Amino acid sequence: MDDRSPYLHPQFECLSRSEIEALQLERLQATVKHCMNSPFYKKRFEQIGLKPSDIKTLDDLRKIPFTTKQDLRETYPFGMAATPLRECVRLHSSSGTTGNPTVILHTQKDLDQWADAVARCLWMVGLRPDDVFQNSSGYGMFTGGLGFQYGAERLGALTVPAAAGNSLRQIKFIKDFGTTAVHAVPSYVTRLYEVMKETGVDPHKDTKLRVLAIGAEPHSEEQRQRIEKMLGVKAYNSFGMSEMCGPGVGFECQEQNGLHFWEDYYIVEIVNPETLEPVPDGEIGELVLTTLNREAMPLLRYRTRDLTRVLGRTCPCGRNHVRLDRMRGRSDDMMVLRGVNIFPIQIEKILMSFPELGSNYLITLTTDDDNDNMTVEVEIAEMFTDDYSRLQTLTKNVTRALKDEILLTPHVKLVAKGSLPVSEGKAVRVVDKRKVYQ
Ligand code: AMP
Ligand code: ZN
Repeated sequence: MDDRSPYLHPQFECLSRSEIEALQLERLQATVKHCMNSPFYKKRFEQIGLKPSDIKTLDDLRKIPFTTKQDLRETYPFGMAATPLRECVRLHSSSGTTGNPTVILHTQKDLDQWADAVARCLWMVGLRPDDVFQNSSGYGMFTGGLGFQYGAERLGALTVPAAAGNSLRQIKFIKDFGTTAVHAVPSYVTRLYEVMKETGVDPHKDTKLRVLAIGAEPHSEEQRQRIEKMLGVKAYNSFGMSEMCGPGVGFECQEQNGLHFWEDYYIVEIVNPETLEPVPDGEIGELVLTTLNREAMPLLRYRTRDLTRVLGRTCPCGRNHVRLDRMRGRSDDMMVLRGVNIFPIQIEKILMSFPELGSNYLITLTTDDDNDNMTVEVEIAEMFTDDYSRLQTLTKNVTRALKDEILLTPHVKLVAKGSLPVSEGKAVRVVDKRKVYQ
């Protein structure tokens, strides 16, 4: 591993398992102690008679109750803070569809460590100070904006805060500035590519693009491979969430064999969402994260609702930070249709395996005559035909492949390219119209 860079942290990235655990215990004990400055945690520890000194081993973490999004809402806006407000320099908020939004506070040290984490991720996938990094994600409260901005600047890359949307301008920047790396949500990347094609730009010949960071929303391996082929780049999965700062929590290395979650920043647990007991490695469960170096708002055993599994704890890249599978989605994204549990990502995986289909799709759930039904609308790829019988055969084949995956027969509708809505932020993949009947 090239360790000549100040942006790579071999002293943390290449620790052995026992060194990681020793560091985690030391940081966990300090974090729990610091949490006693948070009115929320102080009260919670008092209620159950737990003292920071009771945390003697990493296993003792399990004595601590989980923290939930509901806790963040109930303590809105500042009831979780463990440092006085005058020491905080930034606030991010994520809008809640119900009730209060959630607020995350940061001290300057928190922001510095966040930038270090993102710089570490970008270095890991081969970005260097001569790269031009275009951040095509939303700015403002969405942490993918400022998170990548500061991280790429810390790395020393020339960083272009292009923000989301305005595809023609994005493409002009990519060409004019010699952009080598882009961060964007995967659904927007496919949109960018379509606009490139419409305007006669060949990303392979007319741009210097070579690396993409894609994340913030669930996407399939098939979607990633498509993006890589379309743009002639390597696309790396980037996981983040505002409660844990934002981007920089988990990132794929050049092996592309799962997301390394930085265990000097977080303790990773995977639990059964019903029993809340740990699940064995390899089994899917809910991701639970404990922050290890946060000042303003440490979070203990935060239930992310994201479902994933442990793939391994070693990697040919030399990093021993736990590798997690790409997120299946959040437990809230799971659709239950006629008693069958289905994740949108399962549908995407099948659709993306058909080269005749485009990348944009929409799942609509309805109740017709007391039966719940699923309609999958998917755009056809441009190069494909308008020959009716070929379209019919394709519809049949897609329906059959979906049925094999989800065990239900959806109604598949092939629609013209560009006819489904495209969002600049996270894509909306499911419209559940059943709710009006409930
Ligand atoms: P936000 O706090 O608004 O940035 O949203 C965070 C959520 O976005 C996570 O809890 C995940 O559900 C989702 N998310 C972020 N990155 C990824 C990713 N790489 N793959 C799948 N889902 C992701
Ligand atoms: Zn690796």
